[in-house]
Amino acid sequence: MKKLKGAIIALILTAALAGCGGTTPAAATTTTAATAATEVTTTMATTTTTAATTTAPPETTTEATTTTVISYSPIVREEIDPEKPIIALTFDDGPTDLTPQILDILEEKQVVASFFLIGDNINDDTAQYVIREFEQGHEVDNHSKTHSQMPEMTFDEIAAEIQYTSDKVEELIGIPTPFFRPPYIATNDVMYEAIDIPFITGYLPNDYMDTVDVEQRIENVKKSAKDGLVILLHDFSGNVMTVEALPTIIDNLKAEGYQFVTVSELFEVKGKTPEEGKAYTIVL
Ligand SMILES: [Zn+2]
Repeated sequence: MKKLKGAIIALILTAALAGCGGTTPAAATTTTAATAATEVTTTMATTTTTAATTTAPPETTTEATTTTVISYSPIVREEIDPEKPIIALTFDDGPTDLTPQILDILEEKQVVASFFLIGDNINDDTAQYVIREFEQGHEVDNHSKTHSQMPEMTFDEIAAEIQYTSDKVEELIGIPTPFFRPPYIATNDVMYEAIDIPFITGYLPNDYMDTVDVEQRIENVKKSAKDGLVILLHDFSGNVMTVEALPTIIDNLKAEGYQFVTVSELFEVKGKTPEEGKAYTIVL
């Protein structure tokens, strides 16, 4: 049975905020009480070193902390209204030197997306982008190891491709890849048997073609947008026309009332469980 992997996987990022700098001397000493020190040692090392010398009782000046829960399915972010249309932006073929430009735009526009990574593209230079994808709340998914014609491979070769990329991602963010997109959207029965995570295809606005310019990329997405649709874009190196098109693509979708979701959220909001032997372009 293939179901969403990592059912409830959450990373709690706790950041000590107030008091980390610019505090008054009085505030600094009161936060150094023994009980507080154990909690804040990792982030407040310089402040807590004064603990031994202080005689002040532990007052109630507790550290202000924020807790951010970044999660994959099946947790749906609260701000998603299931009565309104949703859409999933996805990016294939990263991580590359183009990826941070995509991430900058997504951050500025405050939308989430899903990145389908090629395992062989994850290296010492690009690992930071995978981590940033995750920390920004995007989903990190699987686009094989070598981006080859997988229908030509054996069962074991196919399985190894997916395992490699999932392992690389898990090393970096602690979560295996929940979804798979077949390279060239090429599939066969052996792949469905060998790959234990759901297949995602998507609407392709042809943003991998040099002959499709910025305006066409914008127009293709605009005219094809539908509730529940997966849109397949690319963050391979040099794909600058997609970087140029993306802000307008997002603005147009926002103007039409679309909410942006990860692929996991798409299934969850629609109340659907991915089925074996299917590849999803739209989830309704
Ligand atoms: Zn690809």
